[in-house]
Amino acid sequence: MSKIAMTTPLVEMDGDEMTRILWQMIKDELLLPFIDLKTEYYDLGLEHRNETNDQVTVDSANATLKYGVAVKCATITPNAARMDEYKLKKMYKSPNGTIRAMLDGTVFRTPIIVKGIEPCVRNWEKPITLARHAYGDVYKNVEIAVPGAGKAELVFTGEDGTKITETIHEFDGPGIIQGMHNTVKSIESFARCCLSYAVDTKQDIWFATKDTISKKYDHRFKDIFMEIYEEEYKDKFEELGIEYFYTLIDDAVARVMKSKGGFIWACKNYDGDVMSDMVSSAFGSLAMMTSVLVSPTGVYEYEAAHGTVQRHYYKYLKGEETSTNSVATIFAWTGALRKRGELDGLKDLCAFADRLESATLRTIESGRMTKDLALITSIKDVTVLNSMDFIKAIRTELEKG
Ligand code: NAP
Ligand code: MG
Repeated sequence: MSKIAMTTPLVEMDGDEMTRILWQMIKDELLLPFIDLKTEYYDLGLEHRNETNDQVTVDSANATLKYGVAVKCATITPNAARMDEYKLKKMYKSPNGTIRAMLDGTVFRTPIIVKGIEPCVRNWEKPITLARHAYGDVYKNVEIAVPGAGKAELVFTGEDGTKITETIHEFDGPGIIQGMHNTVKSIESFARCCLSYAVDTKQDIWFATKDTISKKYDHRFKDIFMEIYEEEYKDKFEELGIEYFYTLIDDAVARVMKSKGGFIWACKNYDGDVMSDMVSSAFGSLAMMTSVLVSPTGVYEYEAAHGTVQRHYYKYLKGEETSTNSVATIFAWTGALRKRGELDGLKDLCAFADRLESATLRTIESGRMTKDLALITSIKDVTVLNSMDFIKAIRTELEKG
């Protein structure tokens, strides 16, 4: 059997711990036997990041900007314990943070729907994709614990000396204050990422803020989205028969619960933080989510939404059996391969991505799955497989055609 050809390399970002083990298994069993795989390999494993003073992360992001499509394995974000464990020269920043900043991107997360793992919300028939703005607001805030009576003011001093002052509150006793910001540039690229992704995936998009209360801050988000929609996207949306829908955040929450799914929900930073946990847990598990970082210029980086599954890795190192779910990592590869296929006009590569995804879902639907899914499935008589046997079962299913 001849292997499927590729023309442009994918940027391959290897990672850490259990997901690094799964990464190799997926390549060996599910990709290399079928595809003449072309990748430009970057080892983002923590040891190599340390050896290169994290230059490898920057290089991999630059390669992504050059080629347009990357696939990333989960990576460790160092903390104090990891400093000792890996004898790090420095507490490096999160690779995802570095890459996101360089691509100026937005992350889109979508649950992977499979029969037998039903969402808690019964009317959610189709996936809900959550797009979270990843810059500013309360995540870049400045706070003061007000010790006692006094006046709090908000002051802006322009480079040209302009001064704008607003009184926040005249305190007659202790209290708290907080200052937040965002930039027009960041909100504009968020809007473009979201609206482009809606076009790309041919889905409606919802956006919501609290602009009735926050008449300057949240209202600016609303206006920017509307201006960019009207000027750059309206025609494309009408052509595709999809809709841009703005409403208040509380109305959006109520409507989401009653919806059938099948749309993108764009959220400000805090709303996205909170709502993505609600949506993902209601749909099942982080191991059953796809995650893609999209830049406003149309560069894509696919990854799993979960971490490196450290607890399983330590069991693996001791030679104990693990049953780690590889679905999100497999879908990171299929997402990247399909996108590469679309960009390069390689129908076979796109079709392979579809076949691998459907073989993965059929494996689960036939009752063969990892332990995390066995605990939540409605399927009776399931066979719990270990990490490797689950991937092998998918290969058998894939070879059936
Ligand atoms: P985690 O790796 O997501 O795992 C947390 C727990 O969730 C696991 O112990 C496991 O539960 C369950 N789980 C997650 N993914 C699973 C899978 N594929 N199959 C089965 N069970 C799964 O989060 P963490 O342990 O908090 O973080 C570990 C490392 O990952 C950290 O160093 C962190 O910096 C990094 N991280 C990376 C990314 C990324 O690169 N995108 C994202 C988040 C975290 P049980 O133990 O109960 O089986
Ligand atoms: Mg959260």
